[in-house]
Amino acid sequence: MRPALPIYNPEGEFTTLKSVIAAAQLLGVDLDSGQQAQFQRFGELIELRSKQFNLTGARTWDRIREELFIRSLRILSPAGGSVTTPEWFAGKRAIDVGTGAGIPGIVMKIALPELQITLLDSVLKKTDFLEEVVEELGLENVVVVNGRAEELGQSPAHREVYDLVIARAVAQLAELAELTIPFANIGGTVILPKGASADVEAEVDQAAAAAEILGAAPAITLQVDRPGSSPPDHMIYWMKISPTPGEFPRRVGVPHRSPLLELNG
Ligand code: SAM
Repeated sequence: MRPALPIYNPEGEFTTLKSVIAAAQLLGVDLDSGQQAQFQRFGELIELRSKQFNLTGARTWDRIREELFIRSLRILSPAGGSVTTPEWFAGKRAIDVGTGAGIPGIVMKIALPELQITLLDSVLKKTDFLEEVVEELGLENVVVVNGRAEELGQSPAHREVYDLVIARAVAQLAELAELTIPFANIGGTVILPKGASADVEAEVDQAAAAAEILGAAPAITLQVDRPGSSPPDHMIYWMKISPTPGEFPRRVGVPHRSPLLELNG
């Protein structure tokens, strides 16, 4: 059984949430009081449970707010072209692959309550945490799945059924292609945020063969530097244009050991 949750009330809580509210507003999302309370509680739960097990690297309010919340909101940035305005996301069926503490999936769900989202992670403690978050925040249309992307990507319940596939900080793009593209339906979009430290151009080139084999059109990459004060992120977009061949994704661990590079593809 989970240890009981103490009431946690950081000083100046409302002040610290202001930047998240402003960030959402910049993207055209006005967070009402219920959504603000959900962000507050989500942050508290991350901070609290991070003290108990290895949930995420961002464990202080400042980092949770900036690195987890505001950077996740960047995915909604219209800088990604007119298609990725918040209106475009609302009501979509999405999956967050390797969501960890619910990043970016829970953040997107709080900001856009109409999003239907599946949160997938292979670590049971993390998916237990996500069940707790979903219950405490009263989120609807969220499915938490404990499992491996390689296996779920072959399951009829999840394969080629999502309009939107997202994954942050899970793997290099050549591997990530095989862990994400099989989930997208034809016409669906895969969006992968990458931090400033990654050599994005080289990764995109290296993953081009994999993306094509798996059914995606060539990647579009955009730099997004707002909202927030973090260094710019890159958003990589793959649109699914043809079905993923049945043999992909391969068995657990194979995409990591032997990514679909041009040489061995
Ligand atoms: N997306 C979160 C974020 O940005 O904070 C978590 C990133 S964490 C570095 C990577 C997560 O991906 C871990 O929680 C790990 O358990 C999960 N993961 C890695 N490979 C996976 C796979 N093949 N299937 C499902 N989850 C996976």
